[in-house]
Amino acid sequence: MSMETVPKDLRGLRACLVCSLIKTFDQFEFDGCDNCDEFLRMKNNKDNVFDCTSSNFDGMIAVMSPEDSWVCKWQRINRFCKGVYAISVSGRLPANVIREMKSRGIVYRPRDTSQR
Ligand SMILES: [Zn+2]
Repeated sequence: MSMETVPKDLRGLRACLVCSLIKTFDQFEFDGCDNCDEFLRMKNNKDNVFDCTSSNFDGMIAVMSPEDSWVCKWQRINRFCKGVYAISVSGRLPANVIREMKSRGIVYRPRDTSQR
């Protein structure tokens, strides 16, 4: 496993608004999101990192084997790569990104579960 999907610093952490993966801002800028960069395009794009990730999240789950984990199934992250994920992420994806996902047949479900 590549350790690059695990946060390398506890400061400046952000969570992806689509899949809830937690990494540092720099890691998102350097590598993009390991699950979503095909449509979020955060790699080498600070603006997109700001728009598509949030520094406001709750709870962390470290995932080594997502496909075998009931927690991951519950969090709907069992198809994603190994890493550290947030339980709830506050914030909204920009409308143009939601449209882009829709055009690729991906349904966007907000990761913010704190208000429910
Ligand atoms: Zn993501």
